[in-house]
Amino acid sequence: MVNNSIQENILELLSGISDPEIPVVSIIEMGMVRGVEFQENRPVVVITPTYSGCPAMHQIQDDIAAVLKSNGIDAEVKTRLSPPWTTDWMTEETKQKLKKYGIAPPIGFSKDLKMDLFSVIQKVNCPFCDSGETELKSEFGSTACKSYYHCNSCHQSFEYFKCH
Ligand SMILES: [Zn+2]
Repeated sequence: MVNNSIQENILELLSGISDPEIPVVSIIEMGMVRGVEFQENRPVVVITPTYSGCPAMHQIQDDIAAVLKSNGIDAEVKTRLSPPWTTDWMTEETKQKLKKYGIAPPIGFSKDLKMDLFSVIQKVNCPFCDSGETELKSEFGSTACKSYYHCNSCHQSFEYFKCH
């Protein structure tokens, strides 16, 4: 096989691996996979964790290696922390999937919103009813990258994936 088709094959297999926290999107859709490189003809999958220090990251690395191996591909999986992952790497389609899943997707782009992670005053629309009548309940949700909101219109609570 030439390297190009190995690369294609690998990316296709990776698109079947879900984000450990958000099962409806793949690690590719989250923008975690930087690419496939080759070192002396051995493929090296380069990934950037969505959050450095994410405890699930080691698990993802193992999952990727295991999936590739079971498909007969011997590849190395490398983590690259620089440049750091940003919500800008999520596609619009991915954001829509988050919303359908009940997580308000990040608003805007990190390059325009440098302070968003630290800002508590972010107007977030409810992913269920699109109402703007929402209230920040907690700056940190299930992970530090999300915050908890409550919708005063449909009375459901939801998480907002902070832009960063
Ligand atoms: Zn609502």
